[in-house]
Amino acid sequence: MRLSKMFMPTRKEDPADAEVVSHKLLVRGGYIRMLTRGIYDFLPLGWRSVRKIEQIIREEMDRAGAQEVHLPAVQPAELWKESGRWDEYGPELLRFKDRKGSDFCLGPTHEEVITDLIRGDIASYKDLPVNLYQIQTKFRDEPRPRFGLMRGREFIMKDAYSFDIDEEGANKSYEEMFETYKRICERLGFDYAAVEADTGNIGGSKSHEFQVLADTGEDEIVSCPECGYAANVEKAEIRLPEYDGEKFPPQDLELVETPGKKTIDEVSGFLNIAPMRCLKTLIFNCDDTAVAVLVRGDHDANEIKIRGFLKEHTDISCEEINLASDAQVTEITGAPVGFAGPIDLDIPVFADLAVEEMTNYTVGANDADKHYVNVNHGRDFEVEAFADLRRAQNADLCGRCGAPFEGHRGIEIGHVFYLGTKYSEAMDAKIQDENGQMKPMIMGCYGIGVTRILAAVVEQNHDDNGIIWPMAIAPYQVTVLPLQMRNDEVVETGEKLYEELRAAGIEVTLDDRDAGVGQKFKDADLVGIPVRIAIGSRGLKDGNVEIKLRSESDIQDISVDEAVEYVK
Ligand code: ATP
Ligand code: MG
Ligand code: MG
Ligand code: MG
Repeated sequence: MRLSKMFMPTRKEDPADAEVVSHKLLVRGGYIRMLTRGIYDFLPLGWRSVRKIEQIIREEMDRAGAQEVHLPAVQPAELWKESGRWDEYGPELLRFKDRKGSDFCLGPTHEEVITDLIRGDIASYKDLPVNLYQIQTKFRDEPRPRFGLMRGREFIMKDAYSFDIDEEGANKSYEEMFETYKRICERLGFDYAAVEADTGNIGGSKSHEFQVLADTGEDEIVSCPECGYAANVEKAEIRLPEYDGEKFPPQDLELVETPGKKTIDEVSGFLNIAPMRCLKTLIFNCDDTAVAVLVRGDHDANEIKIRGFLKEHTDISCEEINLASDAQVTEITGAPVGFAGPIDLDIPVFADLAVEEMTNYTVGANDADKHYVNVNHGRDFEVEAFADLRRAQNADLCGRCGAPFEGHRGIEIGHVFYLGTKYSEAMDAKIQDENGQMKPMIMGCYGIGVTRILAAVVEQNHDDNGIIWPMAIAPYQVTVLPLQMRNDEVVETGEKLYEELRAAGIEVTLDDRDAGVGQKFKDADLVGIPVRIAIGSRGLKDGNVEIKLRSESDIQDISVDEAVEYVK
């Protein structure tokens, strides 16, 4: 392709809303353009790479025996009502009506449609197993579309669905897809991890995510160097570190018994909290209705004011809850060490913690029905050791073997689910087994984000100057740069190499634009074609051109005659 003819609108400026490097470079390199929030155009360069990613996926799916189909993007509400997801899915599902007033949605995923297809045409176990896949545009009305292609509203996904008669077969289908996803990740050159994952909106009993490791990833994953267990923190079995016996319990604190039920007033007295005095924190279950963080400060005759949250909404809203002085405190769980007072309470670390976790952090500060009087964080407890515990991944221990976890950030590019009979039960997709009995088919589903992969590759392969494509998905493999367009020999050599490379079946661009040397080099670096051949009048005097790999810094002088052979 001649760049003089190519629609490759490169830009000097980053898009205003871009936070991550893939978003910046794909826009600046002329790969994508935003149409509206979370919805993108793919330009010629971008589309070539998308198609290469699709092709790798397609080859590996076909190799595993899956068959490609193409299902509609527009789906009737009836199917979603059958599965129960019309009500469950929430506002991510874009719904609309046709001219007759019937409800439809734009497919965010295709379990319903595929189950409907299969139940109509497969009647016996003899027709199984079957694995069908498609590569198609999905729509999810994400609350926070961002990071360019990483979290779009419209995006391309490869989704596959397997159907088996029994668990053994279904497990085999799952394993097969798991291996296929590993092969796809390897062909794409990813540094990645396959981790245990939550099943979210899709459902099912077992699932793994394929996470591309990158600091800009939205997911937090942990892995155990000892036993190999790895999981998304949404799902991970984490063992919290035990308290340090050296510091817990502090020796000079007074430990008192807190027998039986107490009223708020008794607790208050017992805790030795004077009105308007120090700020204290305490988690307790109160009349089974409130799990509260008590922040002392206001105390009038009849009420204790606490800032905290009710069990139902564990986001710490810091609203004031007034409890009558005779309300029963049934259980004192403990004072969360390291959190005291509104400064700590308002920090996000705290807001992230589930009640259960918070309780865990208190171990050591209080035993059941005992409480240390007048505990002050910073004085009596090592604050740092606990306050940042949740963030400092190294402090979390593997739930399987107890070794310290390693923490990483990841971009979820693929997700495999063992669905079981969730959809086949709900949608009555039953077939006859060997004994003539009707059984729901056992399903699995397997998604890969094609367009998210494009972004993930850039996140892992770039430098300050631009993208560094791995050969497998580079839009072109070689770019030829005649540096002086007014020098006939330079221009002719460029044309010659361009034609010879094309004849050799290599995908090549020729930068025949009437542009300066600086601009040509800059664009070549930004666009990121793996091999660059620069032709300059000076080198030609010795019969040489300069060949440079985008991923390396050194430049080779190669004679014009050997250049094509060298590149091949
Ligand atoms: P996330 O946790 O990032 O929202 P998800 O778990 O909702 O993703 P799945 O339902 O597992 O996504 O869909 C399969 C794949 O589709 C994902 O692994 C991802 O690669 C891709 N994908 C999902 N949502 C988006 C999106 N908004 N933009 C681009 N790709 C997406
Ligand atoms: Mg999602
Ligand atoms: Mg997810
Ligand atoms: Mg997922």
